[in-house]
Amino acid sequence: LTAPTDPSPLVAVYFDGRSARPQRAALRIRADGLEVRPEGAAVAMHWPLSELERLEGPADAGLRLACHGRPDERVAVSGRADAERIVRALPRLRRARTSRTEMRRAAKWFVGGVVGFAALGLVAFEGLPRAFALMPMNWVAPIGDNVARQIGAVFGGGACAAPAADAALARLSGRLLAEVEPSFAFDPAALDIRLVASSVPNAFAAPGGRIVVFSGLFDLVGDDAGADGDAIAGVVAHEIAHARLRHPTAALGRAFGLDLLARLAGGGGSANAGLALANLAYGRKAEREADALAREMLIDAGIGDAGLVRFFQAVERRFGAQDGGYLSTHPSTAERAAEGRGVTGPVRAFSAEDWQALKAACGG
Ligand SMILES: [Zn+2]
Repeated sequence: LTAPTDPSPLVAVYFDGRSARPQRAALRIRADGLEVRPEGAAVAMHWPLSELERLEGPADAGLRLACHGRPDERVAVSGRADAERIVRALPRLRRARTSRTEMRRAAKWFVGGVVGFAALGLVAFEGLPRAFALMPMNWVAPIGDNVARQIGAVFGGGACAAPAADAALARLSGRLLAEVEPSFAFDPAALDIRLVASSVPNAFAAPGGRIVVFSGLFDLVGDDAGADGDAIAGVVAHEIAHARLRHPTAALGRAFGLDLLARLAGGGGSANAGLALANLAYGRKAEREADALAREMLIDAGIGDAGLVRFFQAVERRFGAQDGGYLSTHPSTAERAAEGRGVTGPVRAFSAEDWQALKAACGG
């Protein structure tokens, strides 16, 4: 091993390539490459200069690095000064080839980087402008459409064309929102839930009532005697709750400012996926609010919140107790599971036919 040429570590975000979960990492510049040490890891990884590549992307998105021997892993450095320090110390750092695959990887990474920085609180959020709370749902719907489409393309194989599954999700949201009156800010009829084929177990709400559910969630929850349709319904209810509470629009506004959001909503320019995905970092308070509203909707609809509790338990089994990797790093999934009452209501979230249609929708 060579001695570090630069003793002070840089703060970076590391993605292991298996989940969308960002991890804080310390980077040290060495003469022959980089030392990458994710927080909590016992041993640092060595990313040799001969295998290091700098990914293409917007100039203001920071420095994004890949390593040939670790094809799906990524490291990002957000600060301009830190990025320049690395580039100066490693003058032989290559730029990634710009083949289609590389561009796709770069795009995927760019998205992950923005989410990562936001989720780790490395992006300085300003106060929420009051105007966001008043932005009508149909005004932000074009942003949401754009976001949902791009996320489908970046994280997976795009939307699954399955009318029976779409109908099943629409029936569920109809039951969850049966008592909700349409308003300026939230119209149940405008809600649009779509399935995307992706191995990543995740779901999210975009502005304008657009909700995307990744098919990887079906693998995560399994098929506990058919009742895990209720676990998926729990996730859908949680995302609907974010939409009702207008968290996606508020998060975009906090991260990118009223001006940019106004331009996007007005049809000028297109929302890039990274911008869009910043809505994943809602924070602890918002996640608790969404969980509470989801439980209320699930119990009122006669489904109960036991499925939502089972979902958090499945996340905990897959990703560990303290960091679920599901949408936000806090509160912990164990806490979120414990907050549920675990009520099983008299009706299931999906009929047997609807549940089969959902599981088969993305070719699974
Ligand atoms: Zn959430």
